[in-house]
Amino acid sequence: MVVRRILLGLLLVCQAAVARSGDVHEDFTRDLTVIREEAYVMPRAALQRLDALRQAHTGRELGQVLVVTSRAYWWMKDKNRAVDAALGAERLGRELHDDDLLARAMLSHAYALSMFVHDQEAARRLIQGAARLAADSADPYLKTQALVTQGLLVEEDGDTAGGIEFVTRAVDVARAGADPDALQMALREQARLLAIVGKTTEALARTDEMIAAARARGIAGQLAHARLSEYGTAARAGNLKRAEAALKAAVDILEKLHARERLAVPLANLAELYMQSRRFGEAERAAVAALRISRAVGDDYGIQLASFELGLSQIYFRNIAEGRAMADQALEALKNDDQYVRMLLNYGHALGQVGFGEAALTIYEKAGSVSLAAWRKEKQSSYEALQRAWDNQKKQSELTALHHESVLKAADLQNARRQRSLWVALCATTCIAVVLIGFLYRRVAKANKSLQQKNDQLFLQSTRDSLTGLFNRHYFYEHVVPHHHRKAGAASERRAGAEGRTGGVFLLMDIDRFKSINDTLGHGAGDVVLKNVAARLAATLREQDVLVRWGGEEFLAYLPGIGTDEARQVCARVLAAVGGTPIALDDRALDVTISIGFCPKSLSPGDVDPDWEQLVHLADLCLYAAKQGGRNRAVGIVDAAALAPHVIAAADADLKRTAADDVLALATVIGPAAPPVRAAA
Ligand code: GH3
Ligand code: MG
Ligand code: MG
Repeated sequence: MVVRRILLGLLLVCQAAVARSGDVHEDFTRDLTVIREEAYVMPRAALQRLDALRQAHTGRELGQVLVVTSRAYWWMKDKNRAVDAALGAERLGRELHDDDLLARAMLSHAYALSMFVHDQEAARRLIQGAARLAADSADPYLKTQALVTQGLLVEEDGDTAGGIEFVTRAVDVARAGADPDALQMALREQARLLAIVGKTTEALARTDEMIAAARARGIAGQLAHARLSEYGTAARAGNLKRAEAALKAAVDILEKLHARERLAVPLANLAELYMQSRRFGEAERAAVAALRISRAVGDDYGIQLASFELGLSQIYFRNIAEGRAMADQALEALKNDDQYVRMLLNYGHALGQVGFGEAALTIYEKAGSVSLAAWRKEKQSSYEALQRAWDNQKKQSELTALHHESVLKAADLQNARRQRSLWVALCATTCIAVVLIGFLYRRVAKANKSLQQKNDQLFLQSTRDSLTGLFNRHYFYEHVVPHHHRKAGAASERRAGAEGRTGGVFLLMDIDRFKSINDTLGHGAGDVVLKNVAARLAATLREQDVLVRWGGEEFLAYLPGIGTDEARQVCARVLAAVGGTPIALDDRALDVTISIGFCPKSLSPGDVDPDWEQLVHLADLCLYAAKQGGRNRAVGIVDAAALAPHVIAAADADLKRTAADDVLALATVIGPAAPPVRAAA
């Protein structure tokens, strides 16, 4: 229970603290606004109060205080402090990234530069920068102030109509934002500018609105400011009654506020009004009061103005010499005042009234020349403003043209760059493709080559005998038989014609007693003998003859296109080639002979070839006969035409009998130094 009460108590304390902190912020904003609105009539008091606010706040609020401080110094014509405070606020605005604060500070800075330093270009840059920031702001006071300041800048350039446009927009913005202080500011400037261009009715209507709004606002200093503006507008409009009423009301408020630093000028102006309505006593009193107050507060301008009015009043009171001395001295100091001509006219009028026509004329002439010079100056400045506007426009259109050009150039460049990269990509792709294709081609070519080599090797391996290098039996059946075999039909007829009547001869050859060479000299010697015999056979036969290693030490030769007579001569040459010269071994020379059996292939044209195996078998039988006959010889069938199928069959069965029965004639060729043919063989 106790704990709950304590907690509740703490909660209430916290709420109160929060509520007070909210109050503190609201108090600050309200106080600062009132100070700002009263700063014109009471700059000194405003600075004291701002100093107090400055101690209590930091950051953004300090920045806002500095902005108003700069403005208060501006009203006091303290250039350096006005600029310093504005710069401090600008720095804070940048540090805190507070664009509203920055914009307000820039405007304050611009006022100071424009009025005291007369650096219009720098002021212009600040005002334009602030206007850009203000355009994005949600603060109606800032927006209004930026527009009003732009209007003043344009007016300064001699374009009063342009100035009116800006302040009219400012009035609209202030109205839309429902900011009474912003509206006060905008209406004040609008009324003033309208009066300048002679739109007095409109100007006075704005003044009415301004006074009503200031009354409603309830800030005395603001109302005094409004009344002073009302005086200015009414005086310019020639409404002296209203001017006097406004001025009296302003002076009244200022006196109540003890706004002594702002009192001297209105009192002097009042003195002027009194003189115009020939109330010289009141005029003197007002002028004396103005002089006293301005001296008290050290207001130099007030002193000069009051002295002038007092001097004039003295002239009206016939203290001519004293009055003229005062007026002359004051005018010397007021040469640059924008009311200088009016003052000269009043001076001349006063002198004329008291009978100093000569002196009055001199003063009028001076007023004339000064206003002529002012008119010339104004013309010149409005001409310069026009020139500046034209230059601006020209620069703008040049910039636009340049921008267009650069956009086009950038697009061109982009296109060219795209095209170039396309080409580069294309070239790169082509190069890579060419290299790749070349690489692949080489690989394929290499693979093909090695494949070809392998194939060749395989072909060799499959068709050649590794020891002698001659074709093998496989080759004979695969490549020789199909080529030379005659089947029935036109194609075989033609081939037979081409080969002539003689169809070729088979020779089957076998080394004699080879086994004993192996047995006595070894297989190595046997191999040497085999290779040697093979070489001798190959060298003896013709190019077109086919020589095959048929078996161990047997060779088959097919001699196309010859008959048996020629075959017997070939056999003799073969027997001589093998047996005629001994074969050289490592340590000896070996006499080797060979036996041959041969069988012709030739048939009558149109007949189908007999089975080759049958023919080779017949040659084998003949070889057997040669071995039986004593070796180193050839035995073969003489007449190919006799080889009818039934003869072949009979010879196959028993060659010897067939020969003995004279069905088939055999011939024998004896090798070199061989024993003669035995009749029984
Ligand atoms: P004939 O005169 O009756 O033909 O007597 P021969 O000794 O030649 O008879 P046979 O056909 O019985 O013997 C052949 C021998 O040839 C048998 C075998 O060992 C041998 N031979 C077969 N091929 C090769 C070979 O490549 N190299 C060697 N060194 N000897 C082989
Ligand atoms: Mg054999
Ligand atoms: Mg043999």
